[in-house]
Amino acid sequence: MWNPATGQQQASVALASAADVDHAVQTAARAFASWSQVSLSRRTKILFAFRELVNANAREIAEAIADEHGKVVSDAEGEVQRGLEVVEFACGISTLLKGEYSDQVSNDVDLYSFREPLGVVAGITPFNFPAMVPMWMFPIAIACGNTFVLKPSERDPSASMMLAELWAQAGLPEGVFNVVHGDKTAVDALLDHPQVAAISFVGSTPIAKYIYTRGTAAGKRVQALGGAKNHAIILPDANPTFAAEQLASAAFGSAGQRCMAISAAVAVGPIADVLVESVGRKAATVKVGPGRDRSSEMGPVVTREAKERISRLIDSGVAQGAHLAIDGRNLVVPGHPQGFFVGPTVIDRVTSSMDVYREEIFGPVLSLIRVQTLQQAIELINANPYGNGTAIFTSNGAAAREFQRGVKVGMIGINVPIPVPMAYYSFGGWKASLFGDLHVHGAEGVSFYTRAKVVTSRWPHNESVSATYHFPTGN
Ligand code: NAD
Repeated sequence: MWNPATGQQQASVALASAADVDHAVQTAARAFASWSQVSLSRRTKILFAFRELVNANAREIAEAIADEHGKVVSDAEGEVQRGLEVVEFACGISTLLKGEYSDQVSNDVDLYSFREPLGVVAGITPFNFPAMVPMWMFPIAIACGNTFVLKPSERDPSASMMLAELWAQAGLPEGVFNVVHGDKTAVDALLDHPQVAAISFVGSTPIAKYIYTRGTAAGKRVQALGGAKNHAIILPDANPTFAAEQLASAAFGSAGQRCMAISAAVAVGPIADVLVESVGRKAATVKVGPGRDRSSEMGPVVTREAKERISRLIDSGVAQGAHLAIDGRNLVVPGHPQGFFVGPTVIDRVTSSMDVYREEIFGPVLSLIRVQTLQQAIELINANPYGNGTAIFTSNGAAAREFQRGVKVGMIGINVPIPVPMAYYSFGGWKASLFGDLHVHGAEGVSFYTRAKVVTSRWPHNESVSATYHFPTGN
């Protein structure tokens, strides 16, 4: 594991074998037998205790994330906070798991439903949110009565270990929450393990597709969230200063390594020139430095390979005819010559055939595409294979409504650049940004981690009812 700010190796993590994964799953399976029987009120108390502990240790978790991921501490604190909101949602599990009841659906017959946990469920998570993304999954899974095996990213595994320790302090019984570190070997062992009932995955699209295909072939329930190419449309009636500020934070925050980062600005008509100028001005003043330095606004990218990939894609944009308005390729941060830094970059006059548009860059690079109408902008978004998030900047309500109804994208912002839903709504994209039927957290998270039973029950007054041979009806 590297410290992206210094470029030096800082620690190493042992990767699990298939036998290690089997041990974790067996442990979780044993714990399920008792955890699934624990009362809702006891589970809720443990969740509340965990919430308090994560809150009390948020700073420490954020600093570990800054050291391994590279993002600035304030940004890491934000992701811990968003993860905590899912814990808070899961604290209401007793309400969320209420069933339905219908009285006297036939003579002496009542009908009711309730939901049960699945068993051992697993989470496989990406490097870019080492606390928040696992917390999209396990608070709800555990609150529903499942036991959980987490396989975090091998690039920044410490946050998950800290969360495991906090679960133990909160009183969660041993074996309910388990962490295995590893790579493809560990992931494949989870995908194939007969005692894993469901897999939640978040990461890049090719791996998401692989997880979905292999996991469902093994008979598991799978939700696999993939990569993104998020567009923001800027209409000529938008406030250009406001839009430029919002675009800069959405494109360069966390060095662009957010699945909801805006990487394509679609300028409609004459606003393009002023936008390039004002976003460029913002980009040039972003304070780039180590994540631990409180004055830094943006940290390095995660690895040397990521830095090289981002630089190569910027090169390709220039070679394919785009105009480099602000170039972050040669940025050197004083005192950190080996750090994996890439400065904010703005590329103008990008077209949909260029690699810089077609590929997910996952770095602090904003491409600007010029179109003439809102309809053209919507068509561009809908032709893109991804459908995670998108936003529009406008002062026209009718245009915003046309946009929200016309785009084939899961999460939409209106004058909000990164429209990540709150924990009590569900998060998920469309098209190549999600494989599976259910989004994460919110009501869909509860559905994903449970299955329904429907009971038809009769307590007859008169047990001498004679047999009938027609299909039973409610009459
Ligand atoms: P990644 O796909 O490389 O890795 C994700 C997980 O899969 C990690 O735990 C990794 O160990 C494992 N993995 C990697 N290669 C594998 C293989 N060949 N077989 C089996 N498992 C494998 O993603 P990343 O680089 O860690 O994260 C960045 C990506 O995640 C970006 O594409 C980003 O858009 C996406 N992401 C999406 C969302 C979303 O909500 N849709 C959220 C965060 C990140």
